Amino acid sequence: YTAKQRNDGAVVYDAAIDKSSEQSLSLLTELRNAVERNEFRLFVQPKIMLGSGKAVGAEALVRWVHPERGNVFPDQFIPFAEQTGFIRVLTRWVMEQSAVLCRQLAAQDIKLKISVNLSTRDLMDQDLPVKFAELLARHELEPSAFCLEITESAIMDDPVRAQNTLERLHGMGMELSIDDFGTGYSSLAYLKRLPVDELKIDKSFVLNMENDIGDSKIVRSTIDLGHNMGLRVVAEGIESEAVWRLLARMGCDQGQGYFMSRPMPAEQLAGWLEKWQPPGAPAVVAESTLA
Ligand code: C2E
Ligand code: MG
Ligand code: MG
Ligand code: MG
Repeated sequence: YTAKQRNDGAVVYDAAIDKSSEQSLSLLTELRNAVERNEFRLFVQPKIMLGSGKAVGAEALVRWVHPERGNVFPDQFIPFAEQTGFIRVLTRWVMEQSAVLCRQLAAQDIKLKISVNLSTRDLMDQDLPVKFAELLARHELEPSAFCLEITESAIMDDPVRAQNTLERLHGMGMELSIDDFGTGYSSLAYLKRLPVDELKIDKSFVLNMENDIGDSKIVRSTIDLGHNMGLRVVAEGIESEAVWRLLARMGCDQGQGYFMSRPMPAEQLAGWLEKWQPPGAPAVVAESTLA
């Protein structure tokens, strides 16, 4: 491959699956085909109120079921999709599927806010608010049925344009969340001006917070910071009941994590909700079960 092709942002790719530009070209072709071939799957992970255990939302997480590679996780193709601009196609697909899910849940009297992840390229798309408005109208959904998750780095790539897009989306009535909070390099002065509703604490601070004093101090401070700014605070990466309880004691509003549920195919969500039981008071072991 020529330098010209290599310099073309559309084919440069440096992630783990493929190394050569030849392979990355074929990856782009495969991604494009994946939509028509129905290889993407909408997975969702419930968002739970940590005080009451009530399920109040679900985050849409895309999976690619590749004919040869099997389940491909987003970390392996989202960065590439970002670089090539394919992400816009993917975001649209995720929004459509999430809208369908929202309608299906509503038909069963289940009201959950669906969170969808956006990337830098989405925020740079001046037409995004109009596209979302059209989609919402077509599915007869309120904008408030959705929350859009944006990372700090996606915002800081081009803060002025990002802020413009975010203000328009928020103005329509869609909720906004700062994802992976604490891992990026945004300034608080900037964050203060953004029309956000939610802060999501990155799982790297949460996973081991019951053993790591540094992590738990960061989490506690972030919860206070979020609340002082009038925001809802959500923790991702809750893998144990101990961490749930710690977060609940710290006043964290909502959480997501393997302890409650791993991401599941969207069609399983209603069934999961029916069975979901939040952890109650520490279980008293019945004497009869003690052999
Ligand atoms: P994210 O938005 O921060 O999503 C949370 C990630 O943490 C998900 O990984 C989820 O499966 C994982 N997770 C949730 N609970 C736990 C837990 O208790 N322990 C551990 N170890 N992990 C947990 P996933 O699904 O692999 O997605 C990775 C990232 O890919 C997402 O991070 C998001 O940035 C991106 N992504 C996923 N789907 C989409 C999408 O449709 N569009 C865009 N633009 N990005 C997406
Ligand atoms: Mg997210
Ligand atoms: Mg996150
Ligand atoms: Mg993340």
